Amino acid sequence: MDVAFTYDNGYKVFEDVSLTADENKFVAIIGPSGVGKSTLLRILGGFLKPFAGEVKLLGRTITRPTPKIALVHQSIVTFPWMTALENVMLAMKPKRIPKEEALKTAKKALELVGLSGFENLYPKEMSGGMRQRVAIARALAAEPLVLLMDEPFSHLDELTAEGLRHEIYNILFAEESPLKSVIMVSHNLTEVVELADVVYVLNGSPAKVVGKIEIDIPRPRNPQNQKFNEYLDTFYNLLTPIKVRKRE
Ligand code: ADP
Repeated sequence: MDVAFTYDNGYKVFEDVSLTADENKFVAIIGPSGVGKSTLLRILGGFLKPFAGEVKLLGRTITRPTPKIALVHQSIVTFPWMTALENVMLAMKPKRIPKEEALKTAKKALELVGLSGFENLYPKEMSGGMRQRVAIARALAAEPLVLLMDEPFSHLDELTAEGLRHEIYNILFAEESPLKSVIMVSHNLTEVVELADVVYVLNGSPAKVVGKIEIDIPRPRNPQNQKFNEYLDTFYNLLTPIKVRKRE
C-alpha cells in the first residue's frame, strides 16, 4: 500500500507512506505517540479511506472491512456475558457457516492460543492475559489472511505480556493457521525487536517512513544479545531527533 491521510478537521497525519507485508512476515510499525500508527492500521483494515493511494491485498484494492483482514485492538474486547467459546464463535457469525463447523473452528482457535479446557469460562473468571488470548483466538477463528494488532500487549502486566509475546509468533504462524502476514503497531521497541521480521519507523508531522529495517536475528531472540541491542539503538536514533525538535 501507498497512502496519504488527512482527518476531516484538515489535520494531515501522513503522506506518501508506503508499506508492504510479504507472506509469512511479521511486520511492526513504530513511531512516537500521535504519529499516526493507529490511523494507518485502520486504513490497512479498510475501516478508514485513505485520502490518496490505496491498500491492496493479493492485488485487490481494499475499500472496506473484510473477513480476510482481522484487527486485534489495544483494549481487550471480550463480551462479559459470553463464555470464551461464545466470544470466539462471534467471529464466524458473518460467515453463516453451520454451527457444528463454527464450533470446531472456535475450539481449534482456542487450542491454538493455549486455552483448551477453558472454553466455558466467562471473562470475569479469566486473567487479562487469558482475555487477550480469547481476543486473538476470535481474530484467528475468522481465518484471516492478515492480522492487524494495535499494541496487543500494552494493557497486560509485564509478566503476562512477556509470556504471551514468547508464544505469539508460533501461534500466528502455526502450520494449521491460514494467516499470511501480521502487522503490529507498538511503541515498545524491545517487543518489536523480539517479534518482527520487518520494522517500519514513522516519524515527523505529517509522518513519513523514516526507516525500514529487517531484523536478522534467529528466534527465539534474547534481549541480552549484542545484535538485539544494536537494533534498539538504531530505532532510538530514528525516533529521537524529531522528538527533540518538537520540544524546542
Ligand atoms: P498513534 O497511534 O501513532 O498514537 P493516531 O493514529 O492515534 O496516532 O493519531 C494520529 C494523529 O491524528 C494524532 O495527532 C491524533 O490527534 C489525530 N487524530 C486521531 N483521530 C482523529 C480524528 N478522528 N480526527 C482528527 N484527528 C485525529
